[in-house]
Amino acid sequence: MLTGVLVAVDSAAFQFDKLYSYNVPEQFTDTVKEGSRVLVPFGNSKRMGIVLGSCEPDDSYKSLIDVERGEPVINSEMIDLIKYLKETTFCTYYDAVRAVLPKNIRLVPDGGFEKIVQESEAHLETVFETVDGFDEAALTKRQREVYEALIAPMTYSELNSITSVSRQTLSKMEESGAVRRSVRLKVSDAGYEPTVKEEALVLTDAQQEAYIKIKELTFSDSTPNTTLFYGVTSSGKTAVYFKLIEDMVETSRGVIMLVPEIALATQMIGRLKNRFGSRVGIIHSALSDTERTIQWKRISEGEYDVVIGTRSAVFAPLPDIGLIIIDEEQEETYNSDQAPRFRAVSVAMKRAYTHSAGLVLGSATPSVESYYKAVEGAYNLVRLEERFNDMPLPEVTVSDMREELIEGNTACIGKELYEKIEERLRSGRQCILLMNRRGYRTVSICRQCGKVIMCDSCSMPMVWHKDDGTHRCHYCSRVIKEVTKCPDCGGELRHTGIGTQRVEEELQLLFPEARILRIDVDSMSRKGSLQKALKDFEDGKYDIMIGTQMIAKGLDFPNVTLAGVLSVDSMLLMPSYRAYEKTFDMLTQVVGRSGRGSSAGEAVIQTIDPQNSIIKLAAGQDYKSFYDSEIILRKAHLYPPFCSVCSVVFVSQKENEARSSAHRFEHKLAEVFARNPKVPVRIMNPAPLRVVLVKGSFRWRIMIKSRGDRAFRDCLSACLTEYKQENPSDRTRIYVDINNESDI
Ligand SMILES: [Zn+2]
Ligand SMILES: [Zn+2]
Repeated sequence: MLTGVLVAVDSAAFQFDKLYSYNVPEQFTDTVKEGSRVLVPFGNSKRMGIVLGSCEPDDSYKSLIDVERGEPVINSEMIDLIKYLKETTFCTYYDAVRAVLPKNIRLVPDGGFEKIVQESEAHLETVFETVDGFDEAALTKRQREVYEALIAPMTYSELNSITSVSRQTLSKMEESGAVRRSVRLKVSDAGYEPTVKEEALVLTDAQQEAYIKIKELTFSDSTPNTTLFYGVTSSGKTAVYFKLIEDMVETSRGVIMLVPEIALATQMIGRLKNRFGSRVGIIHSALSDTERTIQWKRISEGEYDVVIGTRSAVFAPLPDIGLIIIDEEQEETYNSDQAPRFRAVSVAMKRAYTHSAGLVLGSATPSVESYYKAVEGAYNLVRLEERFNDMPLPEVTVSDMREELIEGNTACIGKELYEKIEERLRSGRQCILLMNRRGYRTVSICRQCGKVIMCDSCSMPMVWHKDDGTHRCHYCSRVIKEVTKCPDCGGELRHTGIGTQRVEEELQLLFPEARILRIDVDSMSRKGSLQKALKDFEDGKYDIMIGTQMIAKGLDFPNVTLAGVLSVDSMLLMPSYRAYEKTFDMLTQVVGRSGRGSSAGEAVIQTIDPQNSIIKLAAGQDYKSFYDSEIILRKAHLYPPFCSVCSVVFVSQKENEARSSAHRFEHKLAEVFARNPKVPVRIMNPAPLRVVLVKGSFRWRIMIKSRGDRAFRDCLSACLTEYKQENPSDRTRIYVDINNESDI
């Protein structure tokens, strides 16, 4: 029974964000619990809130207005996670609530789930399940096959796709009492139905060895519960994951598996469903609010054994987690770029600890930080260095594009790549080509006055999209139509730079017969289109796939024997301490897309810097040498893992305001850290972000190197609060980004 509660209130600004105390009116003392959603008076308004703790009642407190009925939607683990996110990522309590709870559940005060989903026919489906205790001897041979396939409730079409059962057979079984039908909430994941019933998993000797080792280390009391699973591309890490998942499901504990991209989630969901039937839940950003709510509800009620998804799936409310797998753990997509700015790996670690679960971080190119932790013994390290079926590494050609330029060839497909594509087309094989910029031409310049067509709201050139004749800003999505002349002097425009659309057009000219699939945000904007495109490519309906980063990771097409990177140079020149790591990762990944079936693969990397050591190491898939050289640089220049880097970012519509706030804040930092001499920091001078203007806002930042520990966070938190109190009229928005990838 609670008589006073501590409430996190929706829409509080950071400096006012704390737990507010309220009295509980008598009629609610039995209903309100920690985790309950409540309606509270706040200033002159009413706000949603969540009870995160209790206190003694006091006459000076206001009283709750309303309380949700029934069990609270969030349990003690989630309450703990909310507090953890607030403390480690400098968000407000409600930012954290947003990460943990789906929108619908957050908003509805009386908690009626049925109300939320509004169980219309559209959200229901009929499923069949076996009846416990039915005497199987009474079944015919055919019926027995169906009966045995029905390992979990399935719709008719799911069951039919596995067993080809007819409706008649199924109704006979229903009449005899072997199966029964029931109605459940539908998840619209069309295309994810199990397609084939997979054979039992057979691991190669090397995979088996890795699997045993991961299991022993991750679940032993004497070793860390986090294991870095380093497996070269095409070593078959997925089979090892599946074996681990299978074991966990047998012991009735839940599994969360994270993958970096929706494209990859799409491929993986199908495979998991083939193996684990309908007890696989999905969470990713392409779900609608209702779908997300249904998934969340089902997961929290223990209806799923396995949840797969992108970053936000790390919050999946499984009641008992035994294992969390993060595939390609180094991916930036695991870092949230809006509040709460969390890292999925850190959250997974926290959750694994709470549930006494194992955490497996898989990668062909681990982040330097993770590999360092493994070397230092904070993680276990398990290696899988043999490619599946002893497939040789793809043979990599580094193509010198300078020579082509000298010869006057300005095309995006160089000679060597051209010949190799032609070979594939002749032999009925497929190619994957990576071009990391979308659009047709990336810069439009006036021939007379040299003006570049820029976005009004962002300090970036607009990208020309030839198909609809628009210029588009890739930062704020602004579209302007039919700009054919210079807006200043009326001069002719010259288009330069290359995007995916231009490459697609060039390929079509070079290879008129080829069937080309372009995959980027523009071509895949319709719901389900990416899923269909990947399936069509797999089914051999295309010869060449050209795409952005979306296609670089993890995709597995056995008939692809050539991978090409059209230009690697802009990545190497990125102004970030992670530039080499990212380039190495991307090249290794793309090269690894080739030769995954029974034929050896090849890859071509086009560059104007063919002697570059990162390119050479990636071509040889030599992670160890890359790590050895990179770790020396990181140490010499003091970058992670030897320190933690965070950014304080200042956002304002007026550049001078962003700049002066940053400078004022710098003084505050100096003052607070002077008071705390035992907290070592290096504070960089305030500077504009590389792209200073985005969506009409100017961005400045201060980078801070520190130990990234509790003491540092407490100091920084004090800076933020004191700064806001001392500068109440400063309207610059300030946020902290612990991921330090805000320079986009
Ligand atoms: Zn001009
Ligand atoms: Zn813009």
